[in-house]
Amino acid sequence: MAKITFLGAAGTVTGSKYLVEAGGKRLLVDCGLFEGSHQLEQRNWDKFSIDPATIDWIVLTHAHIDHTGFLPRLIRYGYRGPIYANAATHELCLLLLADSAHLQEEEARFAAKKKYTPYDPPLPLYTIEEARQALQQFREVPRADAFTLSPEFSVRPHHAGHILGASWLELTITENGKQTLVLFSGDLGRYSTPILDDPESPARADFLLCESTYGDRDHPGGSVPDTLADIVNQTVKRGGALVIPAFAVDRTQLLMYYLRELEDQQRIPRIPVYVDSPMAISVTGLYAAHREDHKLQFLREEQTGDHDPLNLHEVHMTRSVEDSKKINDVVSPCIIISASGMATGGRILHHLARRLPDSRSTILIVGYQAEGSRGRALLDGAKYLRIFGEEVPVRANVVDMGQLSAHAGKSELLRWLSGFQAPPKQAFLVHGEPPALNSLRDAIVSQFHWNVTIPGYLQSFDLIA
Ligand SMILES: [Zn+2]
Repeated sequence: MAKITFLGAAGTVTGSKYLVEAGGKRLLVDCGLFEGSHQLEQRNWDKFSIDPATIDWIVLTHAHIDHTGFLPRLIRYGYRGPIYANAATHELCLLLLADSAHLQEEEARFAAKKKYTPYDPPLPLYTIEEARQALQQFREVPRADAFTLSPEFSVRPHHAGHILGASWLELTITENGKQTLVLFSGDLGRYSTPILDDPESPARADFLLCESTYGDRDHPGGSVPDTLADIVNQTVKRGGALVIPAFAVDRTQLLMYYLRELEDQQRIPRIPVYVDSPMAISVTGLYAAHREDHKLQFLREEQTGDHDPLNLHEVHMTRSVEDSKKINDVVSPCIIISASGMATGGRILHHLARRLPDSRSTILIVGYQAEGSRGRALLDGAKYLRIFGEEVPVRANVVDMGQLSAHAGKSELLRWLSGFQAPPKQAFLVHGEPPALNSLRDAIVSQFHWNVTIPGYLQSFDLIA
């Protein structure tokens, strides 16, 4: 009998890992890292609840670290099978997994130097070498055609919006001549955005796993260009810096798109824009390579870059650490876009340490901020932020611009769910914090009258169609 076990993203937004078992075979959908509070991150270090060597295949919905960042760890403990992903997801993982390992090695080194951790010596969760090994096990699958893993398992991916390459997956389990359809939403994107396509509509499923990141709220309405122009102009007027912690994938490109548009319309002055994330720079290149995934119109290479929709007039793409440090010396108004998006690590920490104490500056929050992250603390009005073992005072203006989120808001989740022509036998809500999970469950029950379950961490359920 087929069975599903929730090894992550159950009652929380990170650590997506769903184990499906049927016919003596084991398939893992996503292999994400837990991120946020110390308690959650401790799970990345705990003994894995099953022997990774007994998993036959892994299929990925998209490249975000909370869906892929545990892969090197799983491989260290014995996973030897293939990791299936489409071309864009594969290429993004080349960048994201290497970066994740790099950040962890760096943090371990830094912690050793500053002695602010109880672990002696502080170790990275995995090394760059281990991330490289994980990438060796990737196998590319089609963007939208079904592929077969075994007589028991076949998978059909569909566009999910969200980020380049993101898919929701239709898994068909065949057992004793009977088919069970399990649908994994992955992370769902927004409708009507300038870069990515709308999430494709689902039609039917026996079992559904639906993300609930924003299950309790909608993103603020209002025009993105108007809001962004206001924020830029106010910061420039004060003579401050606009610092934006942004996920390197998609958020950074969306910001560049809107800023370029505002510059062209002369609604904001042309000030230096520092994209201080080697990864964001590489990801921006992938948008030109994977046109099957978005609607931007790039010019052909032989033409001038003047109409490149992501090319700002005074943009500085800083790859080297030296150039990154020099941004600290910039005293005139500027925009700094850097990762990580929740300020849990990366170069953004140096910029926050430098700009947070300056009341002329603005910290613009544009993406989801998990509980326990520095980004969340800023949104919650923290007066001090702990960075590199020191308490940094928060005097800068903190502005939340939810319009730029990569995740479907509550109404958008319900709009996607309304595509089902018949109720699933059971809908599992995952990838959300408790208020979001509860609120989305109530909305689904009252609007669609479905059987909705909020699974717990490590809980298993039979999948009987
Ligand atoms: Zn995601």
